[in-house]
Amino acid sequence: MPAVNNVLVVGSGLAGAATAIHLASRGVAVDLLEIKPDVAALGSGITLQGNALRELRTLGVWEQVAAAGYAFDVTGIRAPDPHGSVLAEIPDAKTGGPDLPAAMGMPRPELARILCDRATEVGVKLRHGTTFTELTQDDDGVDVTFSDHSTHRYDLVVGADGLRSWTRRALGINLETRSIGMGIWRAFGPRPASVTRTDLYYGGPSFIAGYCPTGEDSLYAYIVEPAQDRSALSPAEQLATMRQLSEAYHGPWDEIRETLTDPSRVNYTWFETHVLDEPWNRGRVVLIGDAAHTCPPTIAQGGAMALEDAVVLAELLTERTVLDQDLWDAFHARRYARAKTVVDASNTLAQWQLDHVQGDAPALFRQIAELTSQPA
Ligand SMILES: Cc1cc2nc3c(=O)[nH]c(=O)nc-3n(C[C@H](O)[C@H](O)[C@H](O)COP(=O)(O)OP(=O)(O)OC[C@H]3O[C@@H](n4cnc5c(N)ncnc54)[C@H](O)[C@@H]3O)c2cc1C
Repeated sequence: MPAVNNVLVVGSGLAGAATAIHLASRGVAVDLLEIKPDVAALGSGITLQGNALRELRTLGVWEQVAAAGYAFDVTGIRAPDPHGSVLAEIPDAKTGGPDLPAAMGMPRPELARILCDRATEVGVKLRHGTTFTELTQDDDGVDVTFSDHSTHRYDLVVGADGLRSWTRRALGINLETRSIGMGIWRAFGPRPASVTRTDLYYGGPSFIAGYCPTGEDSLYAYIVEPAQDRSALSPAEQLATMRQLSEAYHGPWDEIRETLTDPSRVNYTWFETHVLDEPWNRGRVVLIGDAAHTCPPTIAQGGAMALEDAVVLAELLTERTVLDQDLWDAFHARRYARAKTVVDASNTLAQWQLDHVQGDAPALFRQIAELTSQPA
């Protein structure tokens, strides 16, 4: 018998959906709560590294992911010069194993849809447009009050509700989330034939300009600048700003720029970071994914770390028979240092750019690749 019989998972992002799928596949009754009214129709793209793909395969969605995404095994480094000259072509580490691509671009809404469909297929009760208003726990369970005033008692609550986690707040945990000083413009649009992998342009007027193919017909492009308050800009002005910043970048960027015409596909956000000291649980409520640790996407590992938290937690909950301190110790031993190392490395890479310091980026990437090549 598993250590838990019924679980509430708050948040249907990568961490929450993966936890729910794994638990329900192994016979646990799971309610998955999502505050958004539906799976988003619009969104940006995400780069999934090999170790994220390995975990998606364990969820039984690899074929759908492979069909919807765009795989590549090399990252290009280009110069911010008039030709977008290729400076290097770096083979990406196959951190998910030799039988998986090194990386894959995916439209975020497509990935969310695949995971929600899989969750429903394995028996998860997915409730959109709902949240909780109160959590009260004792030694044997957690009583949850929902926003529709209904109540239910669970053996465990998993807070997978992202960066500004309500669950974390409900536990009374004060965690400082800090801006690291960078902001990112992202646009989702059509893929020119010249874009077949991620290329990164370091330098020029912005810190980084890049793009990632997310399917035969789509890509997302991004430009990282010093963080500033862009909230007063109208959508049309946001689009114009991103286009203007992109004018310093050439090669495939010349074609991408021409497709930047839809203000609703442009988004601006700051890079933020935090790591919650272990333990990530308070009694029978545990935080995972961005709710516990978040990093700038300089290594594109946030999604992978969220998936790994989910897989490890679900494995321990279903392979053990008691939810005790031993289980939590095993969870933290497998997750805390690994996630913190990834966050620290991501922050270091960002800081080198902010300080215009030439750090040993290849060594840092190698260190993270070696770590993430080991199963979580
Ligand atoms: C600009 C940017 C680019 C990034 N690029 C990449 C990348 O290329 N590759 C990568 O691996 N990572 C990337 N990341 C990081 C990655 O997006 C996150 O690490 C990952 O999505 C975390 O997943 P999660 O499930 O923990 O949280 P989330 O994806 O934030 O999911 C949380 C879910 O909980 C829901 N929720 C919130 N509050 C409540 C509530 N009260 N009740 C119910 N539901 C609630 C939300 O609606 C959401 O669906 C990027 C991050 C940023 C900011």
